[in-house]
Amino acid sequence: MLTLANSRNYRNFGVGAALLGRYSQEGPGRVFSAMNTKLGKGIPKCCAEPVAIGAAWGDGCEEVMALCIVGVAQQHQSGLETDTLHPCDLCLGFMKGHPLTRPTMPILTATPPGVEFVAELHTLEQLLAHHGY
Ligand SMILES: [Zn+2]
Repeated sequence: MLTLANSRNYRNFGVGAALLGRYSQEGPGRVFSAMNTKLGKGIPKCCAEPVAIGAAWGDGCEEVMALCIVGVAQQHQSGLETDTLHPCDLCLGFMKGHPLTRPTMPILTATPPGVEFVAELHTLEQLLAHHGY
C-alpha cells in the first residue's frame, strides 16, 4: 500500500487507509487512499481514515462501500487489545456520524508488510460496539 509507505509519523507509526467510494451515477466508483501524519510530539495527529473519507466526499462520492486500514496493532483507547489496528476513538466517532458511511460498511483491518499477516473483517457497527460506542 503506497500510502502506508508515505506515512509521516515521528514515532515511525505508519497507517494507510484505502476505500472504495461510490458516486450517485452508475459506474465502478473510485479508490481513495491516504496515510497518517504526526510530525512531532505535541503536534495534533491526522489519521489516514478521515483523510481518505474526506477526499471521497470532496470528489462527490455518496457512499463509502468498504474501507481497509493497514497498520501495526496497538492498544486501543478503549483499553482493548486487538490483533489488527482498529480505527482510533476520533476516527470511530468521525465515521459514526459521517454522511458517507453506514453501519454495515465493511472495514478490513490488516497488518502491514514485514510482520505476520493478520486480517480482520468487521462492519462499522461491530467496531463501534466492540469499543463501547
Ligand atoms: Zn484515527
